[in-house]
Amino acid sequence: MASPAGRGRPVRAPSVRARDARWRGALAVLDEMRRGPGVTRAVVARRLGLSTGSATEITARLRDLALLAESPAAASGRGRPTTVLHPHPHGPVVIAVDLRQEDWRCAVAELDGTPRVAERGRHGSRDPDRVIGTIADAVGRVHARLGDRVRAVAVAVAATVRDGGVVQSATLGWDAVDLTALAPVPGLPLLVGNDATLAGAAEARYGAAAGAGTALHVTIEVGVGGTLVVDGLPVQGATGAGGEFGHLPLGDPALRCPCGALGCWDLAVDGRAIARHLGEPPPGDPRSYAQAALARAEHDAAVRSAVGRAAGGFGRGLAGLINAFDPGIVTLGGFAEPLRAAAEEEFAAALADGLMRFRRAEPPPVVAAALGGDGALHGAAATALDHVLTEEGLGAWAAEHAG
Ligand SMILES: [Zn+2]
Repeated sequence: MASPAGRGRPVRAPSVRARDARWRGALAVLDEMRRGPGVTRAVVARRLGLSTGSATEITARLRDLALLAESPAAASGRGRPTTVLHPHPHGPVVIAVDLRQEDWRCAVAELDGTPRVAERGRHGSRDPDRVIGTIADAVGRVHARLGDRVRAVAVAVAATVRDGGVVQSATLGWDAVDLTALAPVPGLPLLVGNDATLAGAAEARYGAAAGAGTALHVTIEVGVGGTLVVDGLPVQGATGAGGEFGHLPLGDPALRCPCGALGCWDLAVDGRAIARHLGEPPPGDPRSYAQAALARAEHDAAVRSAVGRAAGGFGRGLAGLINAFDPGIVTLGGFAEPLRAAAEEEFAAALADGLMRFRRAEPPPVVAAALGGDGALHGAAATALDHVLTEEGLGAWAAEHAG
């Protein structure tokens, strides 16, 4: 990925990179605005150790540059009146795209980092040119509406990403696919990341793993994905293609995975595993099939047993990842949490059996991801905003909007 997702927690991210003192305070204030909606100027001043005068001066300058807006805050106790900081209605935005197995979403995020879905659709075809063409049209329409306010596009894709491009997707049935058509105009930064990696980075930054030094995110959609995040940075390997947990040989060594390898964990945990245990044909959409299976399991012992076997396969592999990485917390995304909840006993037993003995007394907490199905979109928006909220990014915006 050209710009790594989650370059550290927002309070420390771009501000420390500013060489120019004029931007240092501005970036720090804008980072604070990303930490949560409704933050006030007084709170930002306190967190950053700024005097009231400095905070007022910085926010006034950012207002003049259309980088933020202020509205009166509700009076609270004896404190002096302050303002709530918002993204400016004509300020910079980024486009975040989430390209999944069956569908896609195109969202816009202002400087507070919250992605708001503008367009969505289901893939009408498996052909990469047609899928990318459809999404490029949507990105183009959003860009036409917002124009130069759009400063970057980031794409979260259900695929292995290497050096900023898709090299393979067992999920989508693609080999290398060119995504450059998703940049609506030449020169606009286009950042591409694996969806589970971006979701994990967002979870460590804004979600259930916020504040953890070493967090493991594991998600099941079609197969297993995820990432290890250390101090806010996803561990992505030499070329960005790391984190393919689903292709660890934790499954049946006799089964060939669509990725090309034998015995992948992918095939032991998702809808394909449940169907195989039931003697049913491989589902076209393993995610929907798995969800339907959870509903069927309530009334059907055979389905219940198949779901339990998949949950056990998941717990066993997760124990291996915990043994290998020693995370402080594990967040579960996608179908992983409903699978665990549907077969808690099988999951917990397999997890405990797979953990090294010394870990069993105090295993890391395994919790549901807080951002739910929007994790990848949040991560894509954060990656794009990291690109914009730099000295260079703000300098370019200021040059266009001064006076
Ligand atoms: Zn595989």
